[in-house]
Amino acid sequence: MSRFWNERLRQLTPYVPGEQPQMANLIKLNTNEHPFGPGEAVTRAIRDAADDGLRLYPDPDATALRQAIADWFDLAPSQVFPANGSDEVLAFIFQGLFQPGEPVLFPDISYSFYPVYCGLYGLESRTVALDEHLRIPVESVRPPNGGVIFPNPNAPTGRFLELEAVARILAANPDRVVVVDEAYVDFGGESAARLIPDHPNLLVTQTLSKSRSLAGLRVGYALGQKHLIEGLERIKNSFNSYTLDRLAQAGATAAFRDESGFRAGQKAVIEQRERLISGLEALGFEVVPSRANFVFCRHPSVGGAALAARLRERHIIVRHFDKPRIEQYLRVTIGTAEQMDALLLALDDILNDRETQA
Ligand code: PMP
Repeated sequence: MSRFWNERLRQLTPYVPGEQPQMANLIKLNTNEHPFGPGEAVTRAIRDAADDGLRLYPDPDATALRQAIADWFDLAPSQVFPANGSDEVLAFIFQGLFQPGEPVLFPDISYSFYPVYCGLYGLESRTVALDEHLRIPVESVRPPNGGVIFPNPNAPTGRFLELEAVARILAANPDRVVVVDEAYVDFGGESAARLIPDHPNLLVTQTLSKSRSLAGLRVGYALGQKHLIEGLERIKNSFNSYTLDRLAQAGATAAFRDESGFRAGQKAVIEQRERLISGLEALGFEVVPSRANFVFCRHPSVGGAALAARLRERHIIVRHFDKPRIEQYLRVTIGTAEQMDALLLALDDILNDRETQA
């Protein structure tokens, strides 16, 4: 705390990102990055953009990228808002499209940045408790609220809410913006983007950080009807007109044009996820059904914190949340086949060790 901090700054509780340790030989399964890098066409586009043109500001409208995203979803460029990671997109939404005076609604077990943005922008919040199977109780997502947001698939559970249920939430909250945060949708979910024409209150957010292997580039976007996208433009142009730099625009545009690379990466992750789930279940874990690039699991006899600590001794980093209702769980990012084998072997070892000690 410094005497120079203003009152608002003093009151903030910032988000704590998953650790990015700099150690070599780590098996890093804690922040849901893709196990494989972006395709050659993508890295080439970024290298090609690293030229004399860097002395000039980037295109403030990211025209080429907008078009590539619009083509992918069969939308108009005016229905696409790209920015510096979906976190930035979310920040703009909280700032401009949620109504103060009534609480923003989100699940009690969900992305922990949502309450942070509420704090930053002076919004109240109210959580909706997931049921005992960690599902969103759709009927409870009702007015009064200042807006609704939930990840789909949810994070950190990995559970997917079918689009028919998403449509019911949209219909129950016609006067508020409903944000479907689809950071993980490409690993077996279905995008709510196709509901956009019928729902003026729907915003879908997605990212290139997960399924497109570009967490290091920081690009995300919102999809929605034009009036919502124009609102986000107003915020952006009152904050920083050039949120997306030249390299990010070039790489992200190339990523959307590399469909075969994207599909191959998607398939590899889904295969490893299914293999990991079988392996974990064979070790006695209970695994929440996942449509994401991570699984959420717990062991009936060893707690999440202890397991995470024992894995860390073996240079395997997974995510544990020290929070009510989920402290028993681990969230494990899907990695390569070798990484998944190493994880299962380590867990087997840890669980056997415990039996011999007992
Ligand atoms: N939404 C959810 C649910 C996430 O887990 C993440 C990643 N931490 C994000 C949004 C933000 O992703 P990015 O800013 O990398 O696009």
